[in-house]
Amino acid sequence: MGWLYHITTIGCAMNISDSQRLASRLNELGWSATNQRSQADLAILVTCGVRQSAEDRIYGLIKRIKQDNPQTAVALTGCLSYRPDIQAKIGQQVDYWFTINQLTELEQIIPSPQPASSLTHLHDYLQIKPLYTSKISALVPIGNGCDNFCSYCVVPYARGREKYRPADEIIAEVQNLLAADSQEITIIAQNVNSYRDPVSGLNFTGLLEQLDSLGNYWLRFATSHPKDMSDELIAFMGRSRNLIHHLHLPVQSGSDRILQLMNRRYTSDHYRQLIAAVRQVWPDVSLTTDIIVGFPGETDTDFQATAKLVTASGFDQVYIAQFSPRPGTAAAKLPDDVPTATKKQRAIDLDQLVKAGTLSNRQAQIGQTVEVLLEEQRGHKYFGRTNRNQQILLIPQTGNNYVLGQRYLAQVTAARNFSLAGQLL
Ligand code: SAM
Ligand code: SF4
Repeated sequence: MGWLYHITTIGCAMNISDSQRLASRLNELGWSATNQRSQADLAILVTCGVRQSAEDRIYGLIKRIKQDNPQTAVALTGCLSYRPDIQAKIGQQVDYWFTINQLTELEQIIPSPQPASSLTHLHDYLQIKPLYTSKISALVPIGNGCDNFCSYCVVPYARGREKYRPADEIIAEVQNLLAADSQEITIIAQNVNSYRDPVSGLNFTGLLEQLDSLGNYWLRFATSHPKDMSDELIAFMGRSRNLIHHLHLPVQSGSDRILQLMNRRYTSDHYRQLIAAVRQVWPDVSLTTDIIVGFPGETDTDFQATAKLVTASGFDQVYIAQFSPRPGTAAAKLPDDVPTATKKQRAIDLDQLVKAGTLSNRQAQIGQTVEVLLEEQRGHKYFGRTNRNQQILLIPQTGNNYVLGQRYLAQVTAARNFSLAGQLL
């Protein structure tokens, strides 16, 4: 057996960040990464179990890996790794199976070319120093797991209960990134607002205040739960030096009846008040959200309430998901009674509403000067994001030198549904 590995990551920012810790641990054990999955001795799948479609992708992927190279061993981790039913279904085709929390004992699960005894023993996988994939932007997890048990969601079962990192560990990770010239740090957890330092009891606003004082960089956080977004946090957002004006605040539905069935523990009015308060401190905020259509029992009236909320909220992007029952969750016990065709149609209708709003939001920015972070160059054009986290295509000034990973001013010249174009100044 050789020692080349390849990682496929499905799903959210947390999975991307987990993969960076997994890669780091494998390298410490003497493995080397390859970009070619068919050449890998070990193909690792960091899975997502949030929707059935993500689960189905894994079945197809495992088949393809074995077809491309029958010698490639398959390892499965992530949100599907805790499910005994999946283990029973595909266990034969998977050579190594571990949950993400077992990364601290990877050397006991996967054979390695280097003595495992050289590894420092860690009690939490988030203590592993990650192998960041970008020098410009980094994800920094502040914890793992979720205690909220929204009735549709598998995360509390897949990742377990909330567990947070001590603030000094998070601050040290951010300081190291800034020393290496990272320009953007995104603080991530399933519900950042319920952060508590396990030692000092510091809350999320306190943590952000400390991170905000570390330098001059772009700071972001995701995901916030509307029930836990405090006045204290919103007030801090208004006076922060580094937080960029983007907020991802999943609403899931505009119907109070459905929100209650989802166990979200807020009303659509509360959500409206929250975004009004955020707009008081950040009038130019770019607001994004998640919505599930076709939750069990969702009527046309419920869906219209969601459509109304979308029209009124001025979202810059909406991630629309069709409800998919997840084994073991409370909603999976309800009849999945919204026909697939209705779910699809509601997703299409909502998407059209969203696009109308996002286009006029972006058109309103034409002529404005914005700060941009350069991320990529293709030919003469640059691609980046604005300090509201919007994608922007940039035309350089002739004769000027621009460096990827640095921030510049640009004037917005054109708008599309989900992106902008501009002239670098
Ligand atoms: N923690 C975040 C929150 O509170 O909204 C979201 C985490 S979840 C992994 C990401 C998104 O997937 C959710 O916001 C929801 O819209 C969607 N999602 C979760 N479970 C789902 C299900 N059973 N069917 C369809 N979409 C689902
Ligand atoms: Fe899932 Fe709700 Fe936790 Fe988000 S807050 S991860 S939707 S249970």
